[in-house]
Amino acid sequence: MSLADFKPAWPEEIRQARRERQPSKCDRSQFRVILDVGHTAEALGAISARNVPEYYFNYRLAAQIERSLIEDGFDKIVLLVARGPARPSLFDRVARANRLSANLFVSIHHDSVPDKLLESWEFEGKESHFSDRFRGHSIFVSYENRHRNGSLLFGRLLGKQLKDRGLQYARQYTQPIMGRYRRKLVDPDVGVYRYDQLIVLRGTQMPAVLLEAGSIINREEELQMNSAERLDLISASLTTAVEIFCDRRRPDRFRR
Ligand SMILES: [Zn+2]
Repeated sequence: MSLADFKPAWPEEIRQARRERQPSKCDRSQFRVILDVGHTAEALGAISARNVPEYYFNYRLAAQIERSLIEDGFDKIVLLVARGPARPSLFDRVARANRLSANLFVSIHHDSVPDKLLESWEFEGKESHFSDRFRGHSIFVSYENRHRNGSLLFGRLLGKQLKDRGLQYARQYTQPIMGRYRRKLVDPDVGVYRYDQLIVLRGTQMPAVLLEAGSIINREEELQMNSAERLDLISASLTTAVEIFCDRRRPDRFRR
């Protein structure tokens, strides 16, 4: 860290007072957020406990967040919907995002568990799989993104908003049982994990965060992820986090 990067840690009340004194620096009409709908119609991602593909959950939630941001004055939002097989679609997302010169990239997903943890049950006469062991949302950032600080800042802002609305983050990613999905928890207070290799986070030339909005393999949480109440809580959290992020945004903050 160089001296120029050093910022004293102001108490929250002082920072709040400073923010209230200063007019917002955020020009919402110019601030572009890309909402990346995880997976594609051809490669649907995880399958929920009740056999609904993750892609449908991702699309519905991303579309609601888009509406919420537009109502809030962020009218340059782009809903990024990719097509085709899974892996090429990741590079396609990154290329499209980088052409859009956006200020923030948020990839929307819903969580499952490693295959070895799946249990069987019957749903509507069909053998189905679930795991009620874990629940909650998770936020991932890549330290290989060239805007590491901006990514981390937005991840923390989003985590704080979700926490303030009573939602708990998923704790299992630090546990050995997660095997190759194990991650380092970089913010234990609001739940931000580090996942350097994620293609959509490392390749995007803007601050980028991936949100696993909740577990759809957990039978109870799947129902909650279908509820208007939970959809509202998550889209409100994301919208508020974008407002604060846009307000605090300075070009020099995004340097590593
Ligand atoms: Zn996913």
